[in-house]
Amino acid sequence: PRQFFVGGNFKMNPATRDAKVALAKTLNDATLDDSVEVVIAPPSIYLIPLQEVLRKDVKVSAQNCYFKTSGAFTGEISPSMLADSRIPYVILGHSERRTLFHETSVDVAQKTRAAIDAGLSVILCVGETLAQREAGETAKVVQEQLDPVIAALKPQEWSKIVIAYEPVWAIGTGKVATSAQAQEAHADIRTYLSSNVSSEVAESTRIIYGGSVTASNCKELSQQPDVDGFLVGGASLKPEFVNIINAKQ
Ligand code: 13P
Repeated sequence: PRQFFVGGNFKMNPATRDAKVALAKTLNDATLDDSVEVVIAPPSIYLIPLQEVLRKDVKVSAQNCYFKTSGAFTGEISPSMLADSRIPYVILGHSERRTLFHETSVDVAQKTRAAIDAGLSVILCVGETLAQREAGETAKVVQEQLDPVIAALKPQEWSKIVIAYEPVWAIGTGKVATSAQAQEAHADIRTYLSSNVSSEVAESTRIIYGGSVTASNCKELSQQPDVDGFLVGGASLKPEFVNIINAKQ
């Protein structure tokens, strides 16, 4: 059985350190389903201070990293620096990085390779735009996003990958995918992994859903057989994040 995974992607929020510590305190004081892997991803400058105040069963994740180990790359952070700071996870390929910062799927694969080499686990984001969905291209788009990563990894390295299916039209829009849409996309990804990596990797890799997840829609989504958790944006900044972590209860 795949361990349910709930990630909170804070993006570039909230504005102050105090607000972030308050979020950590909410998690520290909450009763969390202990069968769920919980990871929060604050802006990188807050990774270490938040890790220090957070309960030990909640992990932290970076939101991005570069693919080089060190050097003249002003503004970047390397996977080995994250590993050196005991940051276990990094989010790669988020649609905001792909769109606003022009990251290609080849860039994302290169970063994934470097993160795995540094010993990190990766939350790998994929997903189609509304125009691509309406053109019936969802599966193809997601497969093209996965292909360079599949080429870059050995089968056994997939144990360090969590795939986040995040349809771009659902991110920050309040327009959540239906349970049927999420289930179909996740099942397609699993089938693709089975054909292109191995049936073992397909069976064991967590595929989580992201895009307008809230306390009120998470339960139904969590009951889909191929939905192994969530990557939560806006609602991860609110007390309802606890309810999303506990969706299966
Ligand atoms: P929202 O939950 O705010 O739609 O964001 C989803 C997301 O992008 C998580 O990475």
